[in-house]
Amino acid sequence: MTYPWPGGTRAAVCLTLDFDGESPYLWRSRQTRGPAVGELEQRRYGPRRGIENLLAMMDGLGLRATVFVPGWIAAEYPGQVAEVHRRGHELALHGWCHEPPTSLTADELRATLDRAARTLAGISGERPAGYRSPSWDMTAEVFPVLRSLGIGYDSSLMGDDRPYEVDGVVEVPVDWATDDAPYYRYVGGDPRPPTPTGPIRDAWAAEIAAAKRYGTLCMLTVHPWLSGRPARVAVLEELLAPVVADPEVCVPTVRELAEHHRTTTGGRAVPLERLGRPAHD
Ligand SMILES: [Zn+2]
Repeated sequence: MTYPWPGGTRAAVCLTLDFDGESPYLWRSRQTRGPAVGELEQRRYGPRRGIENLLAMMDGLGLRATVFVPGWIAAEYPGQVAEVHRRGHELALHGWCHEPPTSLTADELRATLDRAARTLAGISGERPAGYRSPSWDMTAEVFPVLRSLGIGYDSSLMGDDRPYEVDGVVEVPVDWATDDAPYYRYVGGDPRPPTPTGPIRDAWAAEIAAAKRYGTLCMLTVHPWLSGRPARVAVLEELLAPVVADPEVCVPTVRELAEHHRTTTGGRAVPLERLGRPAHD
């Protein structure tokens, strides 16, 4: 059986933004003094310019995204995060200052996520429904913590290419192949230059086409400090315009897809009986 995508569509494409800014660097350098201003400024391009560039592109396409926001970013850049919410996008959890769960106790994780949820709710008026772990680093303790906070979905694991369930939480899976960081992340010192836009355009066009052919989810993950640069925004627009116009592909927020999964399947995984066969056979 094929997965019952919303509206009888053949496949799903989700656009997600991990609005990290400088928070991962601040967490990594918390024990050292004198953070490197060069990398901080490179990352501040996200909240300063990249987020607005991406919002304008999405406005033009009529596309709504899910934006995972560390609580520290929401506290530091409330105007930008309020603008994300005002323009119709979903706000979801991404730690307080991008702490990987393996570096926290369960109580610390609960405290950081509750603080972040209260900060986001102070901007949007509602507590977030979902979570994405920083760097997709996960522990088994995360799921009971999410349940205790009323967080209904996670989007950090790669165990399927359709929504499924892990320990009572709907998992809307991700994929390193459709994350911009392995392509664009370059902070100096690496012998290779930053990847140009051509490889990501070709690879992601193939990922989107394959999702439609095989009836799966294509979860795109982009970072405003990386993909918010003009040439990269242009490539995203080029990739996503035909997706938005395609009546056979749904483009839900992650919350919408997680809620659809829970109501349609009761949260269970749907057996992939036709693995490797096109959905339209
Ligand atoms: Zn992140």
